[in-house]
Amino acid sequence: MGLEGKNALVTGGSRGIGRAICVRLASMGAQVFINYVSNSAAAEETQQMIVDAGGKAELIGFDVADSEACQTEIKKMIKEFGSLDILVNNAGITRDGLLARMSEDSWDAVLDTNLKGSFICSKAAARAMMKKKWGRIVNISSVVGFSGNAGQVNYAAAKAGMQGITKSMAREFASRNITVNSVAPGYIKTDMTKDLSDAIQEKLLTEIPLASLGTPEDIAGAVAYLVSDDGAYVTGQTIHVNGGMYM
Ligand code: NAP
Repeated sequence: MGLEGKNALVTGGSRGIGRAICVRLASMGAQVFINYVSNSAAAEETQQMIVDAGGKAELIGFDVADSEACQTEIKKMIKEFGSLDILVNNAGITRDGLLARMSEDSWDAVLDTNLKGSFICSKAAARAMMKKKWGRIVNISSVVGFSGNAGQVNYAAAKAGMQGITKSMAREFASRNITVNSVAPGYIKTDMTKDLSDAIQEKLLTEIPLASLGTPEDIAGAVAYLVSDDGAYVTGQTIHVNGGMYM
């Protein structure tokens, strides 16, 4: 198990990859805080899955792009539950479109949620971790932050930015025994990818050596390693979980 007594906040924990991370961390003994922005029903479903399996989970709704809400809720959580030991910056959105037609609103929305949200949540969480001289931060980036992707300049920029945040925070916090790493998923079966056409999915499979899309649990496994004692000497790194599509 290994995470007994630890509190773990997973942003965007209501569905998809975030849900699998919540379930996995709870199975390792952590008390999990499931963040969501609008889908409280999905968040409650995640909570129920954890409780049914004998784990501990609380809901914590806020928009990661809303600095005030984010700081207020994280402070409240730390005051009530004593600590925030593990933060997984997983909340993310896409607003795809070719650069020539991409609106500034689409750019801002994706950068605010995916990149600024990680900055704000990490800042709020790091204070508590520094006091305790223990912490784990995992940023969920993307293969697209490394390879680029037509139609995703906003998303690719946000995810590439996460790599810079990860390495810089890793250097800033290492002396306080806080590790900061990222996991870069390839194409994973979730709501985010469910609308990919059959033609695109078929083309993708030809580009993935392991010839299948990944599952949320594949990503949760990498996060579990990074926050466990086995990952204690790993910081500033990225684990690529993509079936080999980017090497
Ligand atoms: P998903 O199924 O669309 O779920 C997105 C999650 O993020 C939901 O829990 C959603 O909450 C939450 N969220 C969105 N905006 C938010 C905000 N402003 N504040 C708080 N929470 C917010 O996505 P996913 O596929 O699991 O992706 C999870 C992460 O993995 C994202 O960062 C994504 O970029 C990354 N990723 C995914 C893939 C993939 O193929 N799926 C590949 C590479 C990277 P609600 O339920 O309340 O809407």
